Amino acid sequence: MPDTIHLLPDHIANQIAAGEVIQRPASAVKELMENAVDAGATQIKLIVNDAGKALIQVIDNGKGMSVADAQNAFARHATSKISTIEDLFQIRTMGFRGEALASIAAVAQVSLKTKRSEDELGTLVEIENSKVTEFTSIAHDTGTSISMKNLFFNVPARRNFLKSNAAELKHIIEEFTRVALSFPEIFFSLTSNGQDVYHWEGGSFKQRAIQVLGNNYQTKLVTVGEQTDYLTVSGFVGKPETARKTRSDQYFFVNRRFIKSAYLHHAVANAFEGLLSKDSYPSYILYIDVDPSQIDINVHPTKQEIKFEDDKIIYAFVQAAVKHALAQFSIAPSLDFSLDADIQQLDAIQKPFTTDKIQTATSNSLYAGFTQKNQAHFIPKSSSTNDTDWKSFFTNIPGTSNESSEISEDTPPNESYIVKPSSMGLYKEDEGLSVLEDALLLQLHNTYIIAPTQSGCIILHQQLAHERVLYEKYQKASSHPHATQKSLFPVVLELSPSDAILLDEMLEDLSIIGYEIESFGNNSFIIQGIPADVLSGNEKNAIELLLEQFKHFTGEVKYSKREKLIRCMSRQMAIKAGQSLSQKEMHTIIQSLSDCDIPNVTASGAPTYIEFKESYLDGLFSR
Ligand code: ADP
Ligand code: MG
Repeated sequence: MPDTIHLLPDHIANQIAAGEVIQRPASAVKELMENAVDAGATQIKLIVNDAGKALIQVIDNGKGMSVADAQNAFARHATSKISTIEDLFQIRTMGFRGEALASIAAVAQVSLKTKRSEDELGTLVEIENSKVTEFTSIAHDTGTSISMKNLFFNVPARRNFLKSNAAELKHIIEEFTRVALSFPEIFFSLTSNGQDVYHWEGGSFKQRAIQVLGNNYQTKLVTVGEQTDYLTVSGFVGKPETARKTRSDQYFFVNRRFIKSAYLHHAVANAFEGLLSKDSYPSYILYIDVDPSQIDINVHPTKQEIKFEDDKIIYAFVQAAVKHALAQFSIAPSLDFSLDADIQQLDAIQKPFTTDKIQTATSNSLYAGFTQKNQAHFIPKSSSTNDTDWKSFFTNIPGTSNESSEISEDTPPNESYIVKPSSMGLYKEDEGLSVLEDALLLQLHNTYIIAPTQSGCIILHQQLAHERVLYEKYQKASSHPHATQKSLFPVVLELSPSDAILLDEMLEDLSIIGYEIESFGNNSFIIQGIPADVLSGNEKNAIELLLEQFKHFTGEVKYSKREKLIRCMSRQMAIKAGQSLSQKEMHTIIQSLSDCDIPNVTASGAPTYIEFKESYLDGLFSR
């Protein structure tokens, strides 16, 4: 029998090892950018073609390499960053394993050009399949340029495994963004297929955060900053209004290294508790700095996970830091205009409600018509009357009272709106919602309201129910223009060209439901007035959200623009599932719902409540 073990040839061993470090173009981008950072560059340019499949090039103005270093850089375990095992515990650089360049040289055609400032001439090294094909002196600026072409040209199995250009470019942008957020003092640019994608001048952490998140975050970031001898947490969290349905824009950096940590994410989410509905996620960019000896970054080859010496302390600290920042923001919101008296009124309703705050807030005529604040809580019309009913606000608004609710001849009601409830089988017209007036209501999971009726009980979905209420309210407003409150401070809205076209087309319908918006060209609009139940100070956000929802409207295409708008508006303004409600608020929802023409379903056909008859319940228990 022949022996069966044999040593793999070097180039195959290299390719296998490379797979650990370079899984896709984005991994090479990360390694090359981190090398440039480690080299002390103040300018780092990334150029990619075909999402990195054809070309990845990183050009930096860092310290460059000597001739000998350029030659050695591609050897496995060639690093200038550690020399003893102890160094590992004090690591401050991004790389230290000496694997990246060796790996890249094993799976692409690589060209390195580099020069130190003290040298006359630079060095060119070309490598393919881990073999040096060119090694010569060249003229070059101080710094390093590394380009790699045709990634995985010699490992077809891996090349075939790559995703579409769109998907790979998305990964590249992710890595690019993470490095850029870690080092805001450095200039970064990204060019893809000859097109400039990003051009981020170096600046403060906040400036970089805004470059990454977008200009509209200028006023929407809450600064986090907490320091002890043991660790520092700094950075930003988005104000609750910026929360998204998707988990994007969530970044943790430990000693300027991006990490993924479900555990710490939980700490942040916890700090936001009560401020967000349960299906939305806060955005955050948080930097944790600890003594390097307290962490082990050596646990994962791509180094996105990390072991803390004591992760419970870090958890508690991150949570406290974010909570603290949010509390400061709600007590003293970092308003972007000076604090005059009117603004302080605004501020007053940002705070948690106490009885005297309700007094002050509601005594201001501007707020008399508000029913909701960020969909977070209601302001009763008057704190003294017992059966305060938010419908009574509507009756103060021309066109929304019950008396004027018939639909006028000239606006034919939408088909979906005149479906007779009895035909749905769920609801009998004559019965209605017979919830006992003074019944004790039960809110389940801050989402469902359980209410006893004459003959059983109903389970009502608070968000869907409120959506129906608002839908009918806005429907009726179409025939009687809805009340507008003039904005105290007209707000300017700058949109993308496509959003501007969309908003332009919606202006007329928006005016019917109470928005007073004027276009003044160049994709800019000025918001002069808003419906009485949109919180002032929130108008810009409300419009942006409306545009988003309108674009992603999932109902049928046949609906008129106005119908779509009304549906989006009612979805947007409805109180959300996950929000705790008082007895009074729950009764108000039920009362308003029972006053609806079609109380039992939302405009899109979801049930708003389900009734269980006593006889049915009895049956369940074989009674
Ligand atoms: P590591 O970063 O883990 O040390 P790499 O394989 O990424 O390993 O790089 C090997 C060495 O090449 C680095 O330690 C560094 O000395 C040198 N090097 C790589 N990229 C650059 C660069 N852009 N500028 C200067 N030196 C570099
Ligand atoms: Mg490196």
